[in-house]
Amino acid sequence: MTQKIRLLDETVINRIAAGEVVERPASVVKELLDNSIDAGSGSVRIDIEKGGSKLVRVRDDGGGMSRDDCLLCLERHTTSKLTSEQDLVRISTMGFRGEALASIASVSRLTLLSYDGASEEGTQVQMEGGTIRKVEPIGMGRGTVVEVRNLFFNMPVRRKFLKGYKVEAGHIEEFVTNVALAYPGVGFVYSEDGRVKMDTPPVSSTFERIRMLYSKDVCNNLTEVDYSVDDIRLHGYVARPPYARSSSRSVLPFVNGRAVRDRLIGAALNRALAHMMERGRYPLAILFLELPRESVDVNVHPQKAEVRFVHPQKVFDVIVNGVHEAISGGPFGTPPGYREPIFPLSPVSSMARHLSEPEPKEPAPPDPIARAPREPAPPRQVQTEVLRDTPGKFESLGIVGSLPGSFVILHSDDELIVLDHHAAHERILFEDLCRADAQKGVIESQDLLIPKVLEFSALEARTLASALDVLQRIGFQVEEFGEHSFVVKAVPTLCDRADLDALFGELVERMLELGHQGDPHTRKEQLLKNLACKAAAKESKKLHVEEIRSLLRDLDRTGSIEVCPHGRPITARFSLKEIRKKLGRS
Ligand code: ADP
Ligand code: MG
Repeated sequence: MTQKIRLLDETVINRIAAGEVVERPASVVKELLDNSIDAGSGSVRIDIEKGGSKLVRVRDDGGGMSRDDCLLCLERHTTSKLTSEQDLVRISTMGFRGEALASIASVSRLTLLSYDGASEEGTQVQMEGGTIRKVEPIGMGRGTVVEVRNLFFNMPVRRKFLKGYKVEAGHIEEFVTNVALAYPGVGFVYSEDGRVKMDTPPVSSTFERIRMLYSKDVCNNLTEVDYSVDDIRLHGYVARPPYARSSSRSVLPFVNGRAVRDRLIGAALNRALAHMMERGRYPLAILFLELPRESVDVNVHPQKAEVRFVHPQKVFDVIVNGVHEAISGGPFGTPPGYREPIFPLSPVSSMARHLSEPEPKEPAPPDPIARAPREPAPPRQVQTEVLRDTPGKFESLGIVGSLPGSFVILHSDDELIVLDHHAAHERILFEDLCRADAQKGVIESQDLLIPKVLEFSALEARTLASALDVLQRIGFQVEEFGEHSFVVKAVPTLCDRADLDALFGELVERMLELGHQGDPHTRKEQLLKNLACKAAAKESKKLHVEEIRSLLRDLDRTGSIEVCPHGRPITARFSLKEIRKKLGRS
């Protein structure tokens, strides 16, 4: 009888594991960078050639390795980072599993050079397809260099699946950028085919690092997020709408210092900015979520980019509330977990602050390193408490006049501001309607002298009937009236000028278009958004100063959300500096 089952050869096992760990050159960069960060490096240099398929080299000045460790680390399941099963639950370093180096070595020509500063000399190990070819002593400073050449040279099929060099290099650059953002205290140099593309010396804060990596325009639009609930902390930066990008790749979430891809975080961010983004546009956000190791599972995928939260709803709420607070300048006020009103009565806006105060000094941004992210941050004192009684800032603007097309011209000490009357009115109405719907505000209602009867088709009537309770809450008195018709007896005062036939007609049409998409909450918001849009002033009639004043007062009341519910900006601003420049006055 012949034996059919046998243990696989070690190199074959490694190559199988490599299939999981090493998908493309960017995965090599990821594993090597993780190791360098784990080794406590102060500066790391990454060089790639031909999209990483010809060469990936990572050099660091971290702790390095002894000769024995150099040999050991290239074997599978050797790690200095995990000693027991319990450690698996609390993975605090980037790497785990101890299979990255062995896997990479099995599908490339890998050279490892390392010196730990304590041994007599450094060690160089050369491998080819998982087999050690040469081990020799070498003189070098403390640190480690891993050079990976000809990735997948022994896996032609995998090699064929690689996209072009440019695409692969793009993935690598994106990843290096993420790591640079997460570790501002570490210096990074990154080069492609001999050309340095990124050189970021160590700095003491995330914001300084952001300034090195993003344009001035982006930085000027960023607002700080720092929000904690229990032991979950969210911090980072979000660009204020109307600033937006056309791809969701502009959202960079990190969980406990690790760049992740995560649907929940993206969804929460969309929720927080739901009424400030145009369709198909995405926020720019760099967000760091810190939570206890045991509340998150990063061990979902060998590449460790996906995570699983033990309490996803809680994480979701922290993001929604934290981002919303940062953007609207007002506290949320609702206990976490309760999701209905995301339209707070925010007393003071960040924009308003910006208007009346002299050039704000750059706030000292948080230093994620000095601020030991493992410790939950103290609950945040919301500054708005202090400012609550100051008069509205929109109201303090000077009124210049109005322009045809429903524009109002305003000015502050250093800005000329064009306000879109329709968009502003829409925002005010929307906030009022939402508050009324959440029964947090009273909406004035006005009886119609002659009740208005509206007729619909059977389908339309059913649709409208399903929205009657919301309409009721926000000040409409609408009742079913015979077959497929309704009678409107009262309307919210803020809609009293609207053409009811058009308003209800379009409302029902939009509801039908939407059908049963989205959850009931989203559908209701759509309805309120449409109502606000229909009811908002449209005609370009000339406004009286008093009407403008009252508009500005109302705007102050709604907070600082400087976009209409569809995401269009409410104001266009021209700084005095800009105007001087245009007019040749320096
Ligand atoms: P893991 O990172 O999961 O432990 P790796 O295969 O990536 O597995 O690395 C194996 C071990 O090699 C690490 O635990 C570490 O001790 C050592 N090592 C790898 N890269 C470096 C480096 N750049 N500097 C110091 N030690 C390193
Ligand atoms: Mg590792």
